[in-house]
Amino acid sequence: MPHYSLPVIDSTEAFSVNKIICIGRNYAEHAREMGHDPEREPPFFFFKPQSALAQNGENFHYPDFSQQVEHELELVVAISKAGNKISATDAANHVFGFAVGLDMTCRDLQKEAKKLGRPWELGKGFDGSAPCTAIQRGALQDLEQFGDLVLTRNGNEVQRGNWRDMVWPIPELIAQVSRYIKLEAGDLIFTGTPAGVGPVNIGDTLEASLEGFSQALTLHVVGDAQ
Ligand code: MN
Repeated sequence: MPHYSLPVIDSTEAFSVNKIICIGRNYAEHAREMGHDPEREPPFFFFKPQSALAQNGENFHYPDFSQQVEHELELVVAISKAGNKISATDAANHVFGFAVGLDMTCRDLQKEAKKLGRPWELGKGFDGSAPCTAIQRGALQDLEQFGDLVLTRNGNEVQRGNWRDMVWPIPELIAQVSRYIKLEAGDLIFTGTPAGVGPVNIGDTLEASLEGFSQALTLHVVGDAQ
């Protein structure tokens, strides 16, 4: 059985990755740019398989089944221990730490799925669609040391947002997800993207960072055959 893990910053231990949960429309401006009303509706989520995980610095292989791959810059929460129906007040006890990730999306396949009323996995769960930095251990209150999420594409800033602007903050995300799905040690929650999603092309270099976070995520986009 393959083993998926991420390094832990300033540690020799590795974080074993279990499931990857992605939150949809968690920033009002992004909901608007996708044509939705950002009124507070319960958060929704979807999954990526473990095989979507990619390490920092790995090449991103532009899938040959898409003409419209887009970047979604996201704060990632790593889960430390299992729980069902975790309350928002207890959520802090389930946080292992944080990372910066990209929810790489085949927007054309996602749009087609939406139109047909089908699940999003074809456009969201492909190999390498969840690149992620190493994990910084930390408690919920340590979030305060972090500023904006920033993404550059070939050196130009293309996406910026602040985790404080999430429609549903992390404790409520943990509560909502665990209401339906058991959270377990090793789970990663991609907490949604701020406004500014946009295209990537073969030959691009993306750099995703979080102000105050020690590691940036670097992604070189190559052709599928490379
Ligand atoms: Mn996303």
